[in-house]
Amino acid sequence: MRFMPLLCVLSSVSAAAQGPSSLAAEIDHRALAINDSVIAWRRDVHEHPELSGQETRTAALVADHLRKLGIQVRTGVGGTGVVGVLKGGRPGPVVALRADMDALPVTEEVDLPFRSTVRTQFNGQEVGVMHACGHDTHVAMLLGAANVLAGMRERLAGTVVFLFQPAEESLGGAAGMIRDGALENPKPSAVFGLHVFPYTVGSVVYRPGALMAAGGTLRIVVHGRQTHGAMPWNGVDPIVVASQIVLGLQTIVSRQTDLTASPAIVTVATINGGVRNNIIPDSVVMTGTIRTFDETQRQQLPMLVRRTAESIAAAAGATATVEASVAGSITYNDPALVDRMRPTVERVVGAGIPGAKVLPGPQTTTSEDFSLYQQRVPGIFMFLGGTPEGTDPKLAAPNHSPKFFVDERALPIGVRLLSGLAVDFLQRATVTP
Ligand SMILES: [Zn+2]
Ligand SMILES: [Zn+2]
Repeated sequence: MRFMPLLCVLSSVSAAAQGPSSLAAEIDHRALAINDSVIAWRRDVHEHPELSGQETRTAALVADHLRKLGIQVRTGVGGTGVVGVLKGGRPGPVVALRADMDALPVTEEVDLPFRSTVRTQFNGQEVGVMHACGHDTHVAMLLGAANVLAGMRERLAGTVVFLFQPAEESLGGAAGMIRDGALENPKPSAVFGLHVFPYTVGSVVYRPGALMAAGGTLRIVVHGRQTHGAMPWNGVDPIVVASQIVLGLQTIVSRQTDLTASPAIVTVATINGGVRNNIIPDSVVMTGTIRTFDETQRQQLPMLVRRTAESIAAAAGATATVEASVAGSITYNDPALVDRMRPTVERVVGAGIPGAKVLPGPQTTTSEDFSLYQQRVPGIFMFLGGTPEGTDPKLAAPNHSPKFFVDERALPIGVRLLSGLAVDFLQRATVTP
């Protein structure tokens, strides 16, 4: 069995000269041939997780591997990011593939031989460090794709850019990469990214248009006037005003935005005020989050939060200082690009794990800084299922859980998918300008 992949590669290389369909066959065989290495890289990165912005070991491993493949490498992009540029043997456009490299302050509870035992200080607490969002698999799959594509560079009709970004979890990584020119020289005309998620292993779940929300924050300080708890008429009670504001904010989504157009969320997550049972305090501080899938709402919601809080406070003779913004962006899959790349996704998943499917994804209210690349370049972001057969994905430990587990049978699917998207995008751009 060990020698099979190599034989397959050899037979497919000769077949590969015959046309576009054999490009797919060559990808599949090369992905199979590199699979043991992909799993080894994944386990290595998993065992040595690094928090956002500190991905030095992972970045060195990535840069070293890309250089060995003859890929042009830039390091220190946006902090610890790595950009690789692979020029194909034929002229054509540029396509980018992205992986994120950071881990989370989570103590691993999965019983694996390569489980993380790394510990660190985070926000003043001693915590474990774990690839609880699966970015270890993203690194390994993109390294696998780099291997596949470098092996067939003479047949590539254009250039592939590999974006290994830091700090996705702190949502600063993509911005830093872009600031440091990751999308320039060469400038891609499409970008693709994957994320492992609790769906059936090998399934791919995504949708055209808005997939993941833009995230924002709110902070409201209600200023009243401190007085005795038994004589509220002598002051202005910010606790009652804050309570009214919490309820008032709930009418923004339910009564002031078009629920049929797009869902939205306004959450108050903290509320703090007062020190003693018989003192009405001077002020109350509230913080929360805002999520939206719609560009108009992205701009409107902070204004509505401000208007609601300020007006309710004014009605009670108090004032509210409001900071609200949705600085994040919407993970938006370009519909035309989705149409164009659908055959690639169907082929890869169809020739993958039995029972795996391509499914239309629900929108998810979490955020991704992949969205920043998509603001500049049409792109597609997809979820790749990593829940083993026999486990109900709905009951599987979610991303960020200390029990998050990825079935490694998903890895070759991801390698084939990333490679296939790059090759087919370049090929179709060349064939149909
Ligand atoms: Zn995450
Ligand atoms: Zn993630």
